[in-house]
Order: sequence, then structure tokens, then C-alpha cells
Amino acid sequence: MSGDVEHSILFRNVVLVDGTGSPRRGCDVAVKGDVIVEIADKISSTAKRIIDGKGRLVLCPGFIDTHTHDDVALLSPDGMDCKVSQGVTSVVIGNCGISISPDALADPKSPPEFSLGRHPYLSFPSVATYVDYLEQHKPQTNYGLLVGLLALRCACQPTRDRPANAHELEDMRRLMDSSMRQGAVGFSTGLIYPGQKAAPMEEIVEIAKVTARHGGLYTTHMRDEADNVLTALQEAVDTSRAAEIPLVISHHKVSGKQNWGRSKETLDFLRSAIEAAPATRPIAIDAYPYSASSTILLPSVTEEAEDVLVLQSRPYPDLARKRVSEIVRTLPDFAGLRYPDAVAKLAPGTAIYFCMDDKDVSRILSFPKTMIGSDGLHSPNPHPRLWGTFPRVLGKYARDEGLFGLEEAVRKMTSLSAETFGFARRGQVKAGFFADLVLLDPDEIHDVATFEDSQRPSEGIKVVLVNGEIAWEDGKGVGVGNGRRLDRIPSGAVSEHPSL
Ligand SMILES: [Zn+2]
Repeated sequence: MSGDVEHSILFRNVVLVDGTGSPRRGCDVAVKGDVIVEIADKISSTAKRIIDGKGRLVLCPGFIDTHTHDDVALLSPDGMDCKVSQGVTSVVIGNCGISISPDALADPKSPPEFSLGRHPYLSFPSVATYVDYLEQHKPQTNYGLLVGLLALRCACQPTRDRPANAHELEDMRRLMDSSMRQGAVGFSTGLIYPGQKAAPMEEIVEIAKVTARHGGLYTTHMRDEADNVLTALQEAVDTSRAAEIPLVISHHKVSGKQNWGRSKETLDFLRSAIEAAPATRPIAIDAYPYSASSTILLPSVTEEAEDVLVLQSRPYPDLARKRVSEIVRTLPDFAGLRYPDAVAKLAPGTAIYFCMDDKDVSRILSFPKTMIGSDGLHSPNPHPRLWGTFPRVLGKYARDEGLFGLEEAVRKMTSLSAETFGFARRGQVKAGFFADLVLLDPDEIHDVATFEDSQRPSEGIKVVLVNGEIAWEDGKGVGVGNGRRLDRIPSGAVSEHPSL
């Protein structure tokens, strides 16, 4: 490249952690338009904007949040500050069987079971209508879109507390087919949830087969993450095999005190399954770096928890941010109730469940095929993972506890995720790849959000670029959205040397 080419942004004197797991090295990185054009020890050409890394700041690929419920957040101009502030530049939406589209309900009033995936006044009857909307109202980050089993069932099945009949299943297959044609990258399930748990494996396999025909992948919040976690893992792997589809196990955990330590068994199982699976249907998992989970108020999940922090309760709004242990001890209405019965009384709503052991969390995070996915829900009192997941992995787990090196931590949030989801030319700092970039201070990086005060941006993220445009700088969002829809191009089909 000649010396007089003007770049749009030039990062000088940065410590490059390129996303592949390779050791860090000092260099300059130049961006032109939406692409990384040059990486060299010294780049002498000029640029509209020069950002100095002072030989200390780390430049790495923008993080890919593989497990989100950001379907609605992407629609508003600053709805994704919680992610961009962490260095996240791409998200996978529509997880756990809950997607904003296709929302083809005959009755436009949402049933409560569908609430996580619906916007108060916008509805998207097809994937195409959602994609079109985001073409016009540019989102802050890139996004890959999954279609959820609940969305399909709501569209095709008048009642969802039973398996689909043959006619309904055919309708779901047809809807999945059109959704994949309109830009979805895969199919998701959340098999603990009302509206989905009555779906037998055969129903899921049939929909997954249609997804696989279009090169899509399958992600699953399994039927059980506690006593029967191995049975649930077996079902997920069997589904992948029967439908010939790549598999992602969502937010892998072992829940309930009696199961603490069993991540040794589940990871052994996964190691064997990964080795046995052919290259056409690889298996990966995602996890978040906290020992507490969060979802809707469900007695069954409460069975596995040491305590429950109520985030929202429709019948008892004043009990938000109170622990169930305190509620049953102090409130006459709840006196003497078992936690699951208290939670049944508090529902509908959302909660945080203290249900995991730190050692299992660390073991699962260290597993080579574990990607980082936040699973944050956009409720008024969210779990801190919504704002803190990525800096927490880099700060607490990589730097402070030394669970793995910075290079490996970054790989788990970038190239591993891009390869798994088939996001071409993303997830690495490499010439010809899209300029999704994060400049961070490796000494300062840490999460600030806590269970008590959960909507606080992390510290240490200096500059974030989405497709070559600055999206976050000096602790605040800048510019207009520059995110794009991401296609899935399964590995092998991705050119190593794309033309610039
Ligand atoms: Zn889930």
C-alpha cells in the first residue's frame, strides 16, 4: 500500500490482540471506510483521525455477544448502549425460542409467555419486516437473527401446551423456511418455558431440518440445566445429529446445590460429543460470567436456587429488588411459604436466581469451545450481565484471577463466535475484515454493574468502532447507528483473502 493513501482512522502504537488467540504484538492498524486495510509495525500514511495507543492500549476485534435478547433494544437509537459500552459490536438475537419475528399471531395481544420478544407498539409479522425496519433505522450494532420456537408455535398453534399436530408442524416448517430465506441464521428453542416445553424432540428435529437445508444452525436453552442436565445434553446432541445441523448449547450451567461440581461431567460429555461430530455439524456452547441466572418468575427454576432476587412482580410491584428469603421471613402474606410457592404467588415477573457454584462457572468459561454470551434481559432492574459481561471476563476472570490469558479471553468473544455463527470477515483484526474494533485499557478494564446497581457502564473501554464508524468514545455513545444484518456463511465457504 502506498504511503500517501488517506485512511479514515489510524490506530498508532497499539498492542494488537487479533482475536485468533495469537500472542499480542505492538503495531499500527489502518481503517478505510468500513474495512481494516493495513496492519504493520509502522504505517506512515495520513488519516482523518489518528488514535494513539501509547504502546499500552489494546486493540482487538469488536466483541460478539452470542446470546442476547436484544431484539427490541436494537430498534431504539440508544437501546444498545448497554452493549456498545462493553465493546460489543455484534449480537445474536432471538435466543431461547423467543424472537421478535415472525410475529404472526392471529391475536395481536401478546400472551404473557411471549412478552420478552415483543415491542409495545411495533410488530413484525415476518423476518423481512424486521430486517427492513432496521435497514431504515440503523441499529447501533450488527445483528444475526435466530427464529424462536415460541414465535413459530404462537403463529401456527392456537394452544401450545401440547405437541404440534401434523398440520401445525407443516405450517411451522413453512414459516421457518421463509424466515431463513429472509435472512435468519438459525433456529432457537427454550425448552423449559411454557409454550415450548410441550414440544417433543421430533417436532424440533423437523423444524431444525428445514433450518439446516438453508445452512442455518440450532441453539438451545435445554430442557433441564439441573438434575437431568446430561439427559438434556443428550437430547440436544441427538437433535443435531438427526437434523444434520450445527449446535450451540445456550448459557451452559449446572444449577442447584446438589449438582455443583457436575460441570466436570457435562464438559466431559461435550468433549466427546464435539470429537465425534463431523465438521458439517460442529458443537459449541456459550456462557456468561456470573453464578446467578435470570429469567421470568418460575417455581421450577426456584427449586434449584439458594435464593431469588425479585426484579419485577406484577401483583407485588413493591417487592422489586427484594430477596425471597426476606419476603417469606418478614411479610405475613408469604409467611411459611416454600420459595417456589412464594415465587408462584409473585409471578408474573422476572427474577435473579442464585443457583450456581463459582467453580463450575470458571470451569465452563475455560472450556475451549465456550463463547461469551450475556443473556441479558432488558427489564427495568436487569441482571448486571446486561452491562458487565465482557469487561468482567477480561477484568475479573482473565487479568485478576488468571483463569486464561487476555488473548484467549478475546478469542472466546470474537473469532470463535464468528466462526461458529458463520459471520464472514468478522471476529479478527485482519486486513480485509470489517472494522469492528475495540480499543481498551488492559489495566483498567472491569465491570461496574452489580446486583444492587446493575445499569452502570463498565470502565476501561476507550473507543469502539462498528463497521469503521466510531460508536462509543470517552464513556458515551457517539454517532448514529452503523450496524448491519449478518449473514451466516458456514466455515469453509469463507474466503481467507477477500478482495478489498
Ligand atoms: Zn435461556
